[in-house]
Amino acid sequence: MDTTILDDFAWRIEFPVLQEQLGLKKGDGYGQEAEAMAVQAEAIGRPKAMYRVGRIESRGASHVVIEGRTFTSRVLAVNLEKVHRVFPFVATCGAELDEWSTSFTSALEKFWAEAIKGMALGASMRALAEHIKDQHRPGDLSMMNPGSIESWPLTENKALFSVLGDPKESIGVELMDSYFMKPGISASGMWFPAEHHFENCMLCPMQNCPGRRAPYDKKMYERRYGKD
Ligand code: SF4
Repeated sequence: MDTTILDDFAWRIEFPVLQEQLGLKKGDGYGQEAEAMAVQAEAIGRPKAMYRVGRIESRGASHVVIEGRTFTSRVLAVNLEKVHRVFPFVATCGAELDEWSTSFTSALEKFWAEAIKGMALGASMRALAEHIKDQHRPGDLSMMNPGSIESWPLTENKALFSVLGDPKESIGVELMDSYFMKPGISASGMWFPAEHHFENCMLCPMQNCPGRRAPYDKKMYERRYGKD
């Protein structure tokens, strides 16, 4: 199996972005404390990611078979209708930062540490996307993630991990019996070249989500995917 592992890329925490996210001012005591944590995290952290090129071997109205594993989702099947290869991936903030974050006891520091781990995960996702674009020239990439929309539940992480081999051994991400991942600040999914750009958020009605990347389109499911 040809998986690519990215575990040695340069990354850094943009402190002004972190500061804004945490509602802190650089000059005050809290700002200085958070900056010291960010500097420590940069020294310790090793965000990582892995992916492979997956061939679509067969497909139906609500499933696709990729490298011998069946993925069941009406939305995934329709999004991949004209696609022949996908890029299944797992990315993580890394076990090093996850361990580091357990050393904090105050609620405030724990909150900052989670935000810092989120930035490390963001760095690994960016490194992954850049690598895929650079190596495979897929054109505009869309992404789907198990558990982000009703049509593709978290249980699909089992097939996703299987198609990647052993993410625990390769990058330290374990799939638990609950289908959540450990470290918790990890992401799994598939990137694919899409005729119509797709974001999970287009099908997600969650209100006031700080991570929203596209408006909710309540008629989109019926219009594009019909009924399962
Ligand atoms: S709106 Fe928020 S919860 Fe819903 S898919 Fe987008 S990022 Fe995820």
